[in-house]
Amino acid sequence: MTLKMKKLILIGGGHSHAILLKKIGQFPLINTQVILISNVKKTPYSGMLPGYIAGFYSDSETHIDLITLAKFAQAQFYLDQCLGIDLENKKVFCQNTEPISFDFLSIDIGSTPDQNLITGAKKYTIPAKPVPQFLQGWNQILTTIKVNSEHIWVKNPLTLGIVGGGAGGVELALNINHRLSQLLPENQFKINLINRQNNLLSNHNQWVSNRLYQLLLNEKINLYLGETVEKIDLNNIICQSGLNVNCNFIFLVTQASAPPWIKNSGLTTDNRGFILINPYLQSISHEFIFATGDIATMKDHPRPKAGVFAVRQGKPLFENLHRIINDKPLKSYIPQKNHLALIGTGNQEAIASWSKFGCQSPLLWKLKDYIDRQFMQQFENLI
Ligand SMILES: Cc1cc2nc3c(=O)[nH]c(=O)nc-3n(C[C@H](O)[C@H](O)[C@H](O)COP(=O)(O)OP(=O)(O)OC[C@H]3O[C@@H](n4cnc5c(N)ncnc54)[C@H](O)[C@@H]3O)c2cc1C
Repeated sequence: MTLKMKKLILIGGGHSHAILLKKIGQFPLINTQVILISNVKKTPYSGMLPGYIAGFYSDSETHIDLITLAKFAQAQFYLDQCLGIDLENKKVFCQNTEPISFDFLSIDIGSTPDQNLITGAKKYTIPAKPVPQFLQGWNQILTTIKVNSEHIWVKNPLTLGIVGGGAGGVELALNINHRLSQLLPENQFKINLINRQNNLLSNHNQWVSNRLYQLLLNEKINLYLGETVEKIDLNNIICQSGLNVNCNFIFLVTQASAPPWIKNSGLTTDNRGFILINPYLQSISHEFIFATGDIATMKDHPRPKAGVFAVRQGKPLFENLHRIINDKPLKSYIPQKNHLALIGTGNQEAIASWSKFGCQSPLLWKLKDYIDRQFMQQFENLI
């Protein structure tokens, strides 16, 4: 008797799927056809993104080549944008391909800042994600600096706005500041950071929050704390208080959001539209669907949306997909409560944040650089 071939579709080439594909390449899933649907050929590694902006890393050092990785895993690669799922008939809808049927589905598509919450944000901001869109905006700024003579900035300094004072926004501000200081004299550019809360990095401890506040001040970055942005137009960030911050370019690094097609497909989500999953990394409403990374919320063990959690889910995801395909009981995975966050400060130093503990040192940057390079090294020379 021949066994029916199973079909596993992976949507998105996020951090968990990168680890998963590496595992599948090493330990192939027997009798299973694997398809990766990704809207990009190379996916960025979030840990090194601010360092790329600062100019410490190259494009290839910060991106994972998904085509090579899929080849290594003997998976088919579809360069496409997933738009929806038919849960009843087990089909995935994409922009350019006919509906694709599946037996099992795994979703790792990340998240994006919600551009709908602020009037004008969709039209006038550069969102931190999707990363290709972010990098396009960043490159536009670099080109603007290159093509304009210095005289322009003497009269009207280049001004950037960053909306959002979480780890992403603050790390971005410091790293952008570092890069601009290599390109322009200090008095020819200005960075403004606007945050709704009165304190920065409200998910981290007080020491880390205070230290980064001080570093931003030392770098002469304008801080507007306790300001809720209401409207953004071509050159202005307008706050509820009436504050108006004039900027040439505006980055949006606010709270993560999920695309509406996830909820519209009928998957059970949390109140922000993220897929609710159990400790097997399985949708709580549809057991043939798995989800990891930012797009998933562990119902009983919620954690912050951070790349470190997406990376850690890669191995248990492989284990449980292997098990469900082979009709074996699944294994539960509970993420650790506290994780060490290493926040680059743009000057080849880093701040460590762990529970109530925090410290800053150039050695921590060396450690972060080592960890990040080790992570990326595993995807090199695969075939
Ligand atoms: C500026 C900034 C700095 C950050 N720094 C850190 C850090 O230092 N450490 C850390 O832990 N976290 C950091 N984060 C958070 C981190 O980026 C995310 O938590 C992490 O990327 C989530 O990984 P993921 O696997 O869920 O998805 P992602 O890494 O976002 O990958 C999702 C992939 O799916 C693709 N995709 C999306 N939608 C579709 C679709 N519909 N169809 C097909 N493909 C699709 C995307 O193109 C992408 O390749 C940072 C975030 C920002 C904004």
